[in-house]
Amino acid sequence: MLILLIVTSAMALMPASAQDSPAQTASPAISDKVSSFERVARVNDPAYRSTATAGDAKPFDPAAATQAWLDSVPRNQREKSDAYFEGGYWLILWNFLLTAAISVFLLASLFSARLRDFSERVTKIKNFQVASYAILYLLFVYALSFPLNLYENFFREHQYGLATQSFAQWFREQLLGLALTLVGGTLLVVVLYAVFRCAPRTWWIWGTIVMIIFWGTVVLIAPVYIEPLFNTYKPLTDPKIRDPILAMARANEIPVKQVFEVDASRQTTRVSANVAGLLGTTRVALNDNLLKQCTLPEIRAVMAHEMGHYVLNHGGKLLTYFGILILVGLALTRILFDTAVKRWGGKWRVRSIADPAGLPLLALIFNTLLFFATPVLNTVVRITEREADAFGINTSREPEGMAKVALKLGAYRKLNPTPLEEFIFFDHPSGRARIRMAMDWKAADLPTGESHAPDNQSATH
Ligand SMILES: [Zn+2]
Repeated sequence: MLILLIVTSAMALMPASAQDSPAQTASPAISDKVSSFERVARVNDPAYRSTATAGDAKPFDPAAATQAWLDSVPRNQREKSDAYFEGGYWLILWNFLLTAAISVFLLASLFSARLRDFSERVTKIKNFQVASYAILYLLFVYALSFPLNLYENFFREHQYGLATQSFAQWFREQLLGLALTLVGGTLLVVVLYAVFRCAPRTWWIWGTIVMIIFWGTVVLIAPVYIEPLFNTYKPLTDPKIRDPILAMARANEIPVKQVFEVDASRQTTRVSANVAGLLGTTRVALNDNLLKQCTLPEIRAVMAHEMGHYVLNHGGKLLTYFGILILVGLALTRILFDTAVKRWGGKWRVRSIADPAGLPLLALIFNTLLFFATPVLNTVVRITEREADAFGINTSREPEGMAKVALKLGAYRKLNPTPLEEFIFFDHPSGRARIRMAMDWKAADLPTGESHAPDNQSATH
């Protein structure tokens, strides 16, 4: 489960890369396009109508405008998405308890010790013993957590109208994901146990380095080798959508020549986009739900946010922040692991950190630390998301587009949580926070640039 968690979180975050090379200068046509998009955006905008038509003398009130946007969501729709998101809070707890129960069961029943004995009989080579243990362990954990997985990721998603797959399609992707977890997870466990054997006292330092390299590698290869297994990525060809996006990229020195469209509707009805990859594999992709459900101002708002992740180097930053958290987590894990082995090692037949029979104990400890660190992890990600929002609104200049997309994301994320709820459970700013940022930006009424370019005729004089 430790590995499953690391792999899935690495894949879910998909940070941007640290690539840095100059692009062409910005197109002079960009400001014309922006203003025409803003005019389009304001046609269907409740906040704009309610405040702007009241007369020019009355200043724009961002708090009232934010409330007007939130009030535009029908009550039953709001209740449904609140229920979906709040159910997710409990799922964090159930997943934690299930993983803990599986780990305790494997240790106390001596199943883990027997699995280790079996692996030692099969081969004399240490790395193969660990690999054999890891494969059986991962299969066993997957099987025991399958009922909750099935409920959470299949039935519940259908219940809320977010899933588009039949059971056969869903299960096929589950098997594919399991195969990837077996390959990646086994590799990681083998390397970690080699570290445990070589450095029984300082393994937590080297283990952190191994995990960071592993994560970086997954992010690097994901757009090339992993994502195409689940979805088709093709270059966006419609110039009406592509060109405004590339113009924003040029304006920010982002060296992309192409924007990709991904057929996310194969799995979900969610609207989203992402920046994936690292170094040469970096790719900006928007999903087909976004293309179908959103207008150009909304698409520009989303893509400008994604570009923010890229320009602000969030991939590298998150890897650094999580590297520090992993280091602290493994240092604590070392203390707790040694204490537990001293006390129960004899009973569970776990000899030391280098003994693969102790893997469920490692998973139990690390998973418990992760559970209690949920607010910290969410806050670290949420802060980078807020930075990307700030970059996005300044680049797209689409406050209404940003507000509309925030409402669409509200289909699967609670729109108006309490501050404590947002702190603990939100890995993105809430809809209310995002709309408020957009309305504050609009209220600031920034000039578009009033200085003139150098006049060559007067300069030659
Ligand atoms: Zn983001």
